[in-house]
Amino acid sequence: MNRADFPILKETVHGRPLVYLDNAATSQKPQVVMDAITEAYTHWNSNIHRGVHHLSQVATMKHEEARQAVADFIGAKSSDEIVFTKGTTDSLNALAFSFGEAFIREGDEIIVSAVEHHSNIVPWQMLCERKKAVLRHIPLHEDLTLDIEAFKGLLSEKTKLISVAHVSNVLGTINPVEEIIRIAHERNIPVCIDGAQSVPHRAIDVQALDCDFLAFSGHKMYGPTGIGVLYGKREWLELLPPHEGGGEMINHVRWSGTTYNELPYKFEAGTPNFVGSYALHQAINYMQSIGMDAIEAHERDLTEYCEERMKEENERMKEEGVQVHVYAASQPKAGVISFNVFSRQDLIHPFDIGTLLDQQGIAVRTGHHCAEPLIDELGVPGTVRVSFGLYNDRADIDAFIAALEKTIRILC
Ligand code: PMP
Repeated sequence: MNRADFPILKETVHGRPLVYLDNAATSQKPQVVMDAITEAYTHWNSNIHRGVHHLSQVATMKHEEARQAVADFIGAKSSDEIVFTKGTTDSLNALAFSFGEAFIREGDEIIVSAVEHHSNIVPWQMLCERKKAVLRHIPLHEDLTLDIEAFKGLLSEKTKLISVAHVSNVLGTINPVEEIIRIAHERNIPVCIDGAQSVPHRAIDVQALDCDFLAFSGHKMYGPTGIGVLYGKREWLELLPPHEGGGEMINHVRWSGTTYNELPYKFEAGTPNFVGSYALHQAINYMQSIGMDAIEAHERDLTEYCEERMKEENERMKEEGVQVHVYAASQPKAGVISFNVFSRQDLIHPFDIGTLLDQQGIAVRTGHHCAEPLIDELGVPGTVRVSFGLYNDRADIDAFIAALEKTIRILC
């Protein structure tokens, strides 16, 4: 699928053609996105919103068109509900601070899940520490899916917010966010979805999903680094105070006090990343030209094919006392597979596997994937993770499996 649009895929690594399977960490960029950045700085770079001159008006228009494109992309009611941030982490920190200031008191509870990335844990822990509130998490079944009955048991009148990942960046499992939102809303509890691993890979409609907040990163969806989004329902955003002060987010500043700007600007203090928003807009156009359903189907095919090939590899290696263990095996997944290799019950360190794969041109990620509580629960120091993007193909997986077999033969 359109590999030629991504110049970096022609690179060689250690003399081997690059096979890039680290898309959950960040995606590569199509030429149109890189061209957009050059175009912005070459033709219309100027600070936005405050200028009467031509360049400033062009830059303002491009930034606001990008906001509308994001709103349309996720099915938001209005572009006022789209706050540009630096990325998912920034979005979740902004929400934790702002929501915390407005709504969290001593003894209140916030619920996340056992599979969260640190960026959907630590901001809530910091808030809980500040407010003497309590952070709870939805536990896992043995098959590594979320225990929804246990989740229901966690809910009480103390629960003020639920924040869960749509797709686990370690396991690739798709959490039942529709069900979580429905259950939470029966009790009027708002829900934030960490969409870092879902928005780049499947069509998301925030109105159909009915989530109250959604956070995601541009760099994981073929856009540039340093730009991301916090979506919030207007009713909520209007109730929340700004999390940062400065230019742009104000209406009037007097020594006697300050009044804040309207949505979404009250959450965008300082000069925004208007080049990033423009490039993100081009990334969205690029994904839409392929179609989100086509991207999802393509990546599902790759995931199923890869799991199948890994199962075969496991069978092949069994007689030699080697196990290739895929976590949450055969659960529906969105483009992410984590595994470990055991030789006669002993874990082969994921770092060693990743290093030898790298020497064969295969880029994977190893370690705790910024989800230490989940990794602790798996009882290992880390995993090896392969993750797919729209440009990957079955040949990439064949190359990975061949390199994995070689690696196992060296290490086991
Ligand atoms: N949440 C999830 C599920 C993620 O996978 C990531 C990135 N690995 C993040 C949050 C953080 O994203 P960023 O580093 O772009 O802020």
